[in-house]
Amino acid sequence: MKIHEYQAKQLMAKYGIPVPPGEVASTADEAAEAARRIGGRVVIKAQVHVGGRGKAGGIRLAETPEEARTVASEILGRPLKGLRVDRVLVESALDIDKELYLGIVLDRAARRHAVMVSAVGGVDIEEVARETPEKIAKTWIDPTLGLTNYQVRNLLIDAGFERALWADVSKVLFALYECYTSSDAVLAEINPLVVTKQGSVVAADAKVNIDDNALFRQPELAALREAAEENPLEIEAFKRGLQYVHLGGNIGIIGNGAGLVMATIDEVKREGGSPANFLDIGGGAKADLVANALELVLMDPQVKGVLFNVFGGITRCDEVANGILEAVRRVKVDVPIVVRLTGTNEAEGRAILANTPLIPAETMQEAARKIVELVGRS
Ligand code: GDP
Ligand code: MN
Repeated sequence: MKIHEYQAKQLMAKYGIPVPPGEVASTADEAAEAARRIGGRVVIKAQVHVGGRGKAGGIRLAETPEEARTVASEILGRPLKGLRVDRVLVESALDIDKELYLGIVLDRAARRHAVMVSAVGGVDIEEVARETPEKIAKTWIDPTLGLTNYQVRNLLIDAGFERALWADVSKVLFALYECYTSSDAVLAEINPLVVTKQGSVVAADAKVNIDDNALFRQPELAALREAAEENPLEIEAFKRGLQYVHLGGNIGIIGNGAGLVMATIDEVKREGGSPANFLDIGGGAKADLVANALELVLMDPQVKGVLFNVFGGITRCDEVANGILEAVRRVKVDVPIVVRLTGTNEAEGRAILANTPLIPAETMQEAARKIVELVGRS
């Protein structure tokens, strides 16, 4: 999960990383007010989940609150690299002397967290990584030892940091590591870490990505998902603990197993239909789970029909059939529902569905054809 720069800065500040004073604004007036409170020259920063905002015109300086208003009005509500800007961060501008880079990232191939440090941070770090990778010092953290003093010292030497910066940069790097591990992050980056003309070290930009699988034990971070740029149905699915991806069509798809659901989506498309979503209810198909899934799919006003595709393995088809029937009784349904059941106890399952409004199908192809006939091609 990605969080916004202003959220990442609030998080980093909790671990003692210095960040410039700033406020979030969603209108030009709010931006002017924030600039007045902050005082002096400010920088206006578009809050969208994309890198390279500076080069795309999403980071602008303003000398006065009036200028902050104008600049904010030019950034807000417009797309930046394809994403609409709903908020800007208004921050006290920095007197930049040097721009450094600090990053920690999960290196899946190494099965370790990698730490990277460079004295040539800023907007061209990707180019540095490509053309002169030796300018980025890198090491891997032993999970039983954590980040050690000697590693940090070696990184600073390798990256060619002048001695005067060692103390301050080490402090920030240890704090960043603490922030990274405590937040179950898979990426924590400060680019640039600015050395000001006054000699202080400040995080001018911040990026943190959280491991989705750890959100259950990071309630404060999980709550930030609300503010993220995601589909409202996907946010609802997350709250309900369902594996759901919004696709935008008019045929709701529910199945057990990611592979089966994907195959069902393909089949519906082949028949000329338009799947509304991916929804995997996993193993088990108790009434509660099925009702929860069906309710979510029907919240999408575009859905004009639903296709259940369930393979009864350990979960028996008669259990699934009862689950679907009970769910349909509980959830108000006024669209056709096609159910394809196969596997353990399929005859019993189909018998349960006989003489109900649910439309049975024996194969996935037949099920896809039936639902597309009922809903129409698109
Ligand atoms: P990014 O382009 O999305 O990575 O956004 P950054 O926050 O990193 O800003 C891009 C660049 O803006 C920085 O590398 C600085 O060179 C430049 N910049 C100039 N003045 C300021 C300032 O006061 N604050 C910040 N954050 N960046 C500034
Ligand atoms: Mn940056």
